[in-house]
Amino acid sequence: MTRRNFIELAAAGTIAATVDADTGVPWYRKTLRWGQTNITERDPERYDIPWWREYWKRTSIQGVIINAGGIVAYYPSKFPLQHRAEFLNGRDLYGELTAAARADGLAVVARMDSNRTAEDFFKAHGDWFARQKSGEPYRAEDKYVTCVNSPYYDEYLPEVLKEIIERSHPDGFADNSWSGLARDSICYCENCARKFKDQAGAVLPDKKDWSSPAYRKWIEWNYQRRLEIWDLNNRATKAAGGEHCIWMGMNSGSITAESHSFRDLKEICVRSEMLLLDHQSRTETTGFQENGDAGKLVHGLLGWDKFAPESMALYQAPSRAGQMSFRLASKPPAEAQMWMFEGIAGGIQPWWHHIGAYHEDRRAYHTAEPVFRWHKEHEQYLINRQPIAAVGVVWSQRNTDYFGRDDAAALVDLPYRGMTEALIKARIPYLPVNADHISRDASQFKALVLPNVGALSDAQCASIREFIKKGGALVATGASSLYDEWGDSRQDFALADLFGAHAPAPDFGRHAGQPVHSYLRLTPELRSRVGPVLRGFEETDILPFGGTLGSMRLDPGVTVPLTFIPPFPVYPPETAWMRTPKTDIPALVLNGRTAYLPADIDSQYGRDNLADHARLLANLMHWAVGDAMPLEVRGPGLIDCHLYHQNARLILHLVNLSNEAAWRAPIEEWIPIGPLHVKVKLPPHVHAASARGLVSAATMPLSVSNGWASFEVKSIRDHEVIVIG
Ligand SMILES: [Zn+2]
Repeated sequence: MTRRNFIELAAAGTIAATVDADTGVPWYRKTLRWGQTNITERDPERYDIPWWREYWKRTSIQGVIINAGGIVAYYPSKFPLQHRAEFLNGRDLYGELTAAARADGLAVVARMDSNRTAEDFFKAHGDWFARQKSGEPYRAEDKYVTCVNSPYYDEYLPEVLKEIIERSHPDGFADNSWSGLARDSICYCENCARKFKDQAGAVLPDKKDWSSPAYRKWIEWNYQRRLEIWDLNNRATKAAGGEHCIWMGMNSGSITAESHSFRDLKEICVRSEMLLLDHQSRTETTGFQENGDAGKLVHGLLGWDKFAPESMALYQAPSRAGQMSFRLASKPPAEAQMWMFEGIAGGIQPWWHHIGAYHEDRRAYHTAEPVFRWHKEHEQYLINRQPIAAVGVVWSQRNTDYFGRDDAAALVDLPYRGMTEALIKARIPYLPVNADHISRDASQFKALVLPNVGALSDAQCASIREFIKKGGALVATGASSLYDEWGDSRQDFALADLFGAHAPAPDFGRHAGQPVHSYLRLTPELRSRVGPVLRGFEETDILPFGGTLGSMRLDPGVTVPLTFIPPFPVYPPETAWMRTPKTDIPALVLNGRTAYLPADIDSQYGRDNLADHARLLANLMHWAVGDAMPLEVRGPGLIDCHLYHQNARLILHLVNLSNEAAWRAPIEEWIPIGPLHVKVKLPPHVHAASARGLVSAATMPLSVSNGWASFEVKSIRDHEVIVIG
């Protein structure tokens, strides 16, 4: 093929611009900014392609996600049962958009949704659909849910993928809800019954029962099947579209959501050249900072050389349970942009998302442009960098599954959130670290944190012990290590030797308790002997707690700076006095380089947001890390700090979370903070000569002393990214 032919074919949308002709870099390693107009069935009659091409340009995107097939097809498919968009009228909208994108030099990802079909399909292939125990099909409104174990996935979908590739050669594929029925529903179709018997040697479980071997087998079998589908689809797209034609199911940044859908994020990342995140906006419980956390967590699995674009809603997505989503109404720009800034700080690539190709509320068309243009201008600083943190916060999906079980929100998410929010509030950069990657990744940290990580395998515990042996510190809370990888109790903490404390009961920490009116007592003689642990509490002998503790056997030689004060009445006021002002029940145990908190201060902080809890957790981090904190930021405001190095420079993101909608979304107005006094520890290979703000465009006078660079950031409206080098 001549170059001229190639260009003509590419312009006609018949060939993918998969690999850069000059550099050999595949599209998924160079496409940073994405856009998606999620096409409604009405849109084929009103999709103004020239207008959208102009919008693609204005927002500096490099790739588009275009609806192709699945639940609704936007091209004239040869498969009669693939439901055509109601207003398609024979038009090949998907093909036209692909050709337009190609002509504009954009990468194209064809979007599928394989989760369900219309009724005619169900009538023709009843055995391809998920069934309840009664034999009734599982339905989603007027559609029928397909079974992941049926020929729909094994035979039909690969043929649809092939057809789309042959028609228009997309660079790759996305699938919206690819993982089938979620964990709450057991499919009893013939395919499932037969395959489960063949592969797991068991009868499908009757009901949810975490202690039953058959149910556990079913969970594992389901996870395995989703990975098979991932591999199957990739084989299909690569066979028809070449080695770079990858298939990507969408994934959530929430591990609890991933667990619920049997999507093993760690294994998926092993298989992924690029990860597509469907994690569109903040909730009022998790805040914007969750997106920075999601970015770091995902890159910890993927590697920091790969991309993780994330679909970001420009419409009014819900931020609290039960709130309506207004698909056609614009979200205030500040609310959408702050989610983008946090994602970018955590290494996520931005991807605007509109529902529908025609909008009477045109305000959302102005939201992405300034962020995306800024991103384009400074993209070299936003990729291919390594995070710097002294603290690693341990997580694992198995812990969510088998310790969290049906209460993962309270047992797993809440302590993780409380812990990481305390770190953010204290401006201590941290990284999520998967429990299976401790041996590989933990040497970069001074301290590991186990926020009520109940389920840990013997091997994971051994890697934690190894980390401590090499001089690391540990901060652990609650039930950490009391349960094995199936969530079965070990009778005592596997890490009891490190904690210097022994589990009071085999089910300790398993049941999230109701808040009670309890306190913690500071041990007076230890005030001056435990470093920063009790700092800031000089004017109090007690701290609010909220939980319940029983007595616990301790090893000789441990230090107990906090003890438990049992609950007493709150009301009426006359009764609010301590019945038992002092006990020897430990709430915090220091043993060598380990701080163990029987008191679930992380969960309490996640729930109640008490300042004392955040301070205590931050104090423990300073105790654990000592003088090895890499960053100090002084000045008022709530700021999420993300620090990276890239070649011979440091890159510091400061995201200003101080705003008028801190607890009730959305934000409409920015509140600038500053000046901030910043000190960054310089790694040996970084010689700091200047600090430059990529948002303010300001050069900040910088001084270097004892290996630390200091400078002042005058003002931050939404975020600032400072390049130090
Ligand atoms: Zn089934």
